[in-house]
Amino acid sequence: MPSSPTSVDDRCLDRADHALLAERRPLTRAEVDELAALPLDRLPDLVALAHRVRLAYCGPEVELESLINAKSGACPEDCAFCSQSARFETGVDVYPFLDLDEVLAAARATREAGATQFCIVVAVRGPEERLLRRVLEAVEQVHRETGLEVACSLGLLTREQAERLAAAGVRRYNHNLETCREVFPSICTTHTWDDRVATARLAIDAGMELCCGGILGMGETLDQRIDFAFELAELGPCEVPINLLDPRPGTPLGDQSLLSPREALQAIALFRLVMPEVWIRLAGGRERILGELQAMGLLAGANALIVGNYLTTTGRSAEADHALLDALGMPVADGPGEGRFVVDGAGAHARPARRQSIPLRAE
Ligand code: SF4
Repeated sequence: MPSSPTSVDDRCLDRADHALLAERRPLTRAEVDELAALPLDRLPDLVALAHRVRLAYCGPEVELESLINAKSGACPEDCAFCSQSARFETGVDVYPFLDLDEVLAAARATREAGATQFCIVVAVRGPEERLLRRVLEAVEQVHRETGLEVACSLGLLTREQAERLAAAGVRRYNHNLETCREVFPSICTTHTWDDRVATARLAIDAGMELCCGGILGMGETLDQRIDFAFELAELGPCEVPINLLDPRPGTPLGDQSLLSPREALQAIALFRLVMPEVWIRLAGGRERILGELQAMGLLAGANALIVGNYLTTTGRSAEADHALLDALGMPVADGPGEGRFVVDGAGAHARPARRQSIPLRAE
């Protein structure tokens, strides 16, 4: 007798549960495809599985990070989602690298907001020497004055630049792939997806942790979203930021229709199931896309948040996010894993990260 649709769905959820929680093995592409094909009325089951996996691999903590947009706008690249590209009329603020005092003030505010990681972001294709020196100076001062872990997002790097950042104690380097290999050429023509992969690899080779994610809702199909999750997993990131496209007026994606909250939750859950050990950080767009369901993002596998504002859009107050975490009974992590670097008078010394990504391969 043919199986009922319900029992087929149950079996695919049970298989994934057993693979990840009993066998502790990564899911195959075919297994993830089955989960993605579950009907909408099984979304709560998918979310519940992702939450169990998150708790089993990562625990209940949620890691908080703040960003500073330390150099805004006038970027020569043409990323279609980005209001900081000089090619689009977006009205975004344009300013050169901030004074050190402003960076330090933002770092102090980050610490006061209960975040443990501070990410210095600049809108460039890649850093030229003068900018890199100013960033290195800022990293040293932020370490010394606040003790925060410092991450950087400076675009495409050379090997030498990656090594200088790592030597300065930059713990984590953010370089998003943004979307899957197949979709990328329709999003950006001034550099390639492989350029981005090369920088992601250089960051790891230099000894930094890799923070690498992207933006969902840029017109990709569900299948391409899953491609993207597996492509990210191949790189072995420590952290995967998930942005949900909040279309910026004036950009080529300014009229893109929004992901539904259910599509977003499904994607967050699938990313967790493909990458059980990484920090999955809910980033830009969570307020607009998830709306009333923001808490569900943290019950669907996400375990990190950006607090405060994003690069060009306003986020929620840190108080609102702390209240949300209290309500969910999720403690704030005391740092992004144990420090990868000890910084003292003798400089920065590497030590092993607490959590390593397991290498995963799509079938
Ligand atoms: S995403 Fe980065 S590289 Fe692309 S236009 Fe924006 S700032 Fe430039």
